Amino acid sequence: AKAQGRDSAHFFTPELNERAQRRMRLESNLRLALERQELSLHYQPRVCAQTGHTLGAEALLRWHSAELGPVTPAQFIPIAEDTKLIAPIGAWVIEEACRQMAEWRAQDLDLPQVSVNVSALQLVDDGLLETLQAALARHALPPGTIELELTESALMDKAEQTLARLHAIKALGVDLAIDDFGTGYSSLNYLNRFPIERLKIDRSFIRDMFEDPTDLAITHAIIGLGHTLGLKVVAEGVETEREAQTLRLAGCDELQGYWVARPMAAEALAGWLGLRRAA
Ligand code: C2E
Ligand code: CA
Ligand code: CA
Ligand code: CA
Repeated sequence: AKAQGRDSAHFFTPELNERAQRRMRLESNLRLALERQELSLHYQPRVCAQTGHTLGAEALLRWHSAELGPVTPAQFIPIAEDTKLIAPIGAWVIEEACRQMAEWRAQDLDLPQVSVNVSALQLVDDGLLETLQAALARHALPPGTIELELTESALMDKAEQTLARLHAIKALGVDLAIDDFGTGYSSLNYLNRFPIERLKIDRSFIRDMFEDPTDLAITHAIIGLGHTLGLKVVAEGVETEREAQTLRLAGCDELQGYWVARPMAAEALAGWLGLRRAA
């Protein structure tokens, strides 16, 4: 037993140990994040490529931990998924986005839609539909004011099971978008059968568009494919005027990224929209 103990200790290098501890601290703090009200949503606008008109805003989760400070979604979403905490957190995101949208509508803010990211685990959970329906009803929202973003891999992973679920969401009147498009493996057959409105070209293609001719070609191909299927195509991660101009000329319908605006708190978005209208 002693030898075994020494053996296993051998595997826990200080570095690995540190990572495991960080992960454990993240997890225990994430368990308390909801009740401690440490989560909030930031919003990033999405605009028409041709007119610049604001078509919606994507809700992006932010966690400011009292103990650990700000933690990025890239760090905590995978933990939320591993621990199943994504269920209550995801439900909170839907509720909060709906509440905020209702508040903006009451203020006559010119924002047609809020998009919410939904993880693969939420999609296969029966609670999603109820959560969505309840939030729409509670806040008296026309369903088209909410969109769900699902990653390509989440959808294609269990395409057959997902299909019925997507149609049930669509029946509520909520829009559906495929996120991070181009990074997974889409079956064109399913793509055609999914009741979706939008494809969001993954940021990696936009980022390398001018360095890597393949990425520019893929971007063009996705725009063509989307239009063939009668979908709107969104470019995300648009950072420069040159990228925006190229995408516009390529026929891309909608733009999102730092070039338009960074994700911002709800109050800041209201101000941003007001300034846009005045301009
Ligand atoms: P995503 O859904 O692809 O969201 C876009 C990410 O790109 C956001 O990162 C956004 O801040 C960032 N971004 C937007 N424009 C630009 C740009 O021009 N340049 C660069 N470099 N980045 C840009 P964020 O907020 O850190 O979120 C990362 C990911 O975490 C999201 O990727 C999404 O997959 C996930 N996530 C965020 N909020 C939620 C949520 O409420 N639920 C779930 N399930 N996942 C979420
Ligand atoms: Ca997204
Ligand atoms: Ca994305
Ligand atoms: Ca590349």
